[in-house]
Amino acid sequence: MRKPLAALVSLGLLAWACGCQKQVRLVENPPPPYFGPRTVATLTPPPSPVYRPAPAPAPAPAPSAGRASWGEAAWIPGGAERAWQFIVVHHSATPTGSADQFDRMHKAKGWDELGYHFVIGNGTLSGNGEVEVGSRWVKQKHGAHTKVAGHPEYNDLGIGICLVGNFDITRPSEAQMDSLARVVRCVMNRYGISRSHIYGHGQLKPTDCPGRNFSYNDLFRRL
Ligand SMILES: [Zn+2]
Repeated sequence: MRKPLAALVSLGLLAWACGCQKQVRLVENPPPPYFGPRTVATLTPPPSPVYRPAPAPAPAPAPSAGRASWGEAAWIPGGAERAWQFIVVHHSATPTGSADQFDRMHKAKGWDELGYHFVIGNGTLSGNGEVEVGSRWVKQKHGAHTKVAGHPEYNDLGIGICLVGNFDITRPSEAQMDSLARVVRCVMNRYGISRSHIYGHGQLKPTDCPGRNFSYNDLFRRL
């Protein structure tokens, strides 16, 4: 029994040595191992952003001399109010105009700002019948529209309302008269101003403002 077993074992060893062994292919001349710093793949840097200067901020709009409004709510001052006693109506004596334009004209004369408290457009540089609330009204500042020697009250406590147009030549439009009456009614009620304190500029000093075609009767009929 021992001999056949030994033969069997040796046969198996032979088989292992010849064919059953898994063949390992050795690489000839392998590169030497490298222990240096590892190469880091460089990433392509993103394209540098194109420098675009930030757009310059839009210039702040010049403070407007007049704030357009068609309604009474905009005619009520926000803060402390002046104890107004008079209303003085003017024409601009120009065919066209607006609060901004008159503001420039008045400043060119050396005045602080637009002399009127309200400007009522005729459809040229502002709407026909559009009421522009002057910057002095917002500040509740005295007027600069009716300077009468010995009577500072007409500027100090007089609300100046200017209708755009030359009413020596033309007439105020229906829309202008309608808006004028609305503004006059509004301030009459708010400050308790009587009809007897509503004037045209020419009734307080020698000037034909608000023009020979301006009808006081028409205004009073509308109040
Ligand atoms: Zn006037």
